[in-house]
Amino acid sequence: MADSLLTLNAGSSSIKVALFEAVDGGGALPVARWSGQADGLGAGLKARLRVRDAQGRTLLDGALGDARTSHQGALAALLDWHAKQADGDRITAVGHRIVHGGVNFVAPVRVDEAVLGELAALEPLAPLHQPHNLAGVRAAMKAFDGVPQVACFDTAFHAVEPEVNRRFALPRELHDAGVRRYGFHGLFYESIVSQFAQAAPELAQGRVIVAHLGNGASMCGIAQGRSVATTMSFSPLDGLTMGTRCGHIDAAVVLYLMRSRGMSADQVETLLFRESGLLGMSGVSSDMRELEASAAPAAAEAIEHFAEQVVQHMGSLAGALRGVDAIVFTGGIGENSVALRERVLADCEWLGANVDVAANRNGATRLTTAESPISAWVLKTDEEAVIARHTARVLHAATKN
Ligand code: ADP
Repeated sequence: MADSLLTLNAGSSSIKVALFEAVDGGGALPVARWSGQADGLGAGLKARLRVRDAQGRTLLDGALGDARTSHQGALAALLDWHAKQADGDRITAVGHRIVHGGVNFVAPVRVDEAVLGELAALEPLAPLHQPHNLAGVRAAMKAFDGVPQVACFDTAFHAVEPEVNRRFALPRELHDAGVRRYGFHGLFYESIVSQFAQAAPELAQGRVIVAHLGNGASMCGIAQGRSVATTMSFSPLDGLTMGTRCGHIDAAVVLYLMRSRGMSADQVETLLFRESGLLGMSGVSSDMRELEASAAPAAAEAIEHFAEQVVQHMGSLAGALRGVDAIVFTGGIGENSVALRERVLADCEWLGANVDVAANRNGATRLTTAESPISAWVLKTDEEAVIARHTARVLHAATKN
């Protein structure tokens, strides 16, 4: 009977689960034996469950019955499927993606009720994610009574940033009380750091800008594998234009909305987190594929805004790193949108990136010409593997102590 561990990433209407075997906590990233994704969870949506093996072959693809459209129900459906398939694997731990670790959690930690309480107190800082992440932990605690649960934080990767990049220019008392730049997507960045070290070991020791461009989008300047500066800050709202989030805006807009438009804090939160970004600008969709397929001028304008923000933040992060050796694209848009990568790289020629248009269009990993002063790459993010590795390390440390 093999010992296995599960990773769980619970979002607002989806859960991603992956099963890893015999993870030793070191070396290259582990590969999941299978990974499953349930989408459309919650009231009124068509819930679906898909499972793929390590080669990407579909093992299961079907609608979830009415009784199984909650996060808990979808997890149960997945575990039932696993029990029928597996040759008796024992799940010895569950690792979770938790978006916000606040000031106190700067490394993965085993979860107990006290930890859960502290993490719940951070929910207002990441309202789109943290409540769902924690619901996932509670569902796994119920499903796996007594099995260790390990929380891995998106903020932790950035805890090593220079102090100057961790601060807002606000009175010190507020910084000391936790009003500071945290940064997010850390598990995704760790995955890219590990993969880039395999793909281009020398460059990975240099200055790298990673553009994680998905529904949620951020960029990070990384030197010798460590975060130096990143575009998200106090919450995952800051920085780039996103699917439904506004990215960076003047804080005085919030005051205007409340004072002159009479909006409540809840209404402003909904506007900035759920109704802005690509969706708000285009009035068409939050989804890049749909915008690229749309003939509406506002859709093109939204794409233009997104791309321009990426280009401008290249400059800002190049400043933070005092130069750049490589750029890496990742995330759903970064991995798949040929047009967006081409547009951004063409506008980064001043930075030393000479795009190889054919390579970019033909699915190559390296996107720049052989003579290009700096190189650009595309890598597929694998945060599940990072969570599995952290979880194995936490358990290993616990058995040694
Ligand atoms: P999340 O932040 O929710 O994890 P993803 O990283 O899955 O998001 O990215 C979702 C985004 O990727 C969507 O805007 C989607 O349209 C975009 N995307 C996926 N495939 C393509 C594609 N082939 N071309 C352009 N955009 C794509």
